[in-house]
Amino acid sequence: MSDDYDRREEICPDCQASEGDRDARIMTAGQDPATGRMFTSVTYHHDTCPAYTVDQILSEDSARRSKERTAWMKEEFPLVRKRMEAAASEGRADAAPFIDALLELVAAQGEDLGRFVPPERWTEILTKHFPAPEDLGPVGPEEEPTT
Ligand SMILES: [Zn+2]
Repeated sequence: MSDDYDRREEICPDCQASEGDRDARIMTAGQDPATGRMFTSVTYHHDTCPAYTVDQILSEDSARRSKERTAWMKEEFPLVRKRMEAAASEGRADAAPFIDALLELVAAQGEDLGRFVPPERWTEILTKHFPAPEDLGPVGPEEEPTT
């Protein structure tokens, strides 16, 4: 373990479980806002602990939302990419959507240089600047039949 990494233990205020009498162990990772040091935090719980139950519910909800966002991104990203490429190939004089999208993507990356901008965020930004025409289905008029 490197020197810039801490391990912390937190006593659950609800069940007061310890490593010796625990039913569950929850590990989280974070970054100390004051020092910038990364840390893992371990909290022990009993099965009947209300805080543990809430944590499980939030964890399952977070996993579900993450799956939904990934599924949305996989469907939407190719579509918005086609819309952007079609707009670029039109040779339009108005470059504002491209400039705005690029600036927003760069700003999103600039918010945290320790991580890549996730594809879900790319898709959100591109969709904002190249929205789907409401009267068109998932296939735009620029598409040619594949057969
Ligand atoms: Zn607990």
